[in-house]
Amino acid sequence: MARKKQHNKDKEEATPASTSAAAASASAPTEEGGEAQPTAAVVAPEEPQPPPPEPHPPVEVAYCGVCTFPLEYCEFGSSLTRCKDWLKEADSDLFDKYYSEEALQAKIGTLSLEAQTKLEKDTAKKEAKAEAKADAAHKKKMASQITIKRIERTKRKFVTSIHGLEAFSIDLKKAAKQFASRFATGASVTKNPQGQDEIVVQGDVSDEIVEMIEGGVGVLKGIPADNIELVEEKKKAGGAGAGGS
Ligand SMILES: [Zn+2]
Repeated sequence: MARKKQHNKDKEEATPASTSAAAASASAPTEEGGEAQPTAAVVAPEEPQPPPPEPHPPVEVAYCGVCTFPLEYCEFGSSLTRCKDWLKEADSDLFDKYYSEEALQAKIGTLSLEAQTKLEKDTAKKEAKAEAKADAAHKKKMASQITIKRIERTKRKFVTSIHGLEAFSIDLKKAAKQFASRFATGASVTKNPQGQDEIVVQGDVSDEIVEMIEGGVGVLKGIPADNIELVEEKKKAGGAGAGGS
């Protein structure tokens, strides 16, 4: 029906083909809407626009798996030797890019021999220092003792305290939670009289906790069995307590 009206009004302007095409596509709107449609249809379609220029791809930065710096900065860290070993394994192409003979030549070619020697010495010194530091940290960790103490609070009522886990980078709150759910009892992180954090678990679960730590259960990972010590603290109530057992 819209088609008839179209023909009457736009005879001169538009070719029948374009009118009917426009009318077909615009058959739904009111009669007036039909008038404007053909004109629009005659207008040449817009020139295809040239594709927008490719945006620059983001610069991909490769990070070192050892020192976590971008690869270019490994040499300024204190673990260059380990960084290089890591990269060689991880990506030999990148390794060549940074550390092949040519790459190194291109880089130090501009330095005087004296400066080169100094650079090498500095690097070696830095590395030795860092290694000594890591070594000391490791020794300190290995010397830390975990103390699990069975404490008699009142006759036949015990709590178990665990001290020293933080030296092994264990989250005390998580560990306390783990103990609490494992033994279905209360467990909390508190400060001992010396002001150090420790975990206190309700009940005598000292043997079980030693086993858990030895077995590396859940968050209790990385503690050598040699560093675990089980002690017992008797009630200090004097005469009456001493007679027990
Ligand atoms: Zn590195």
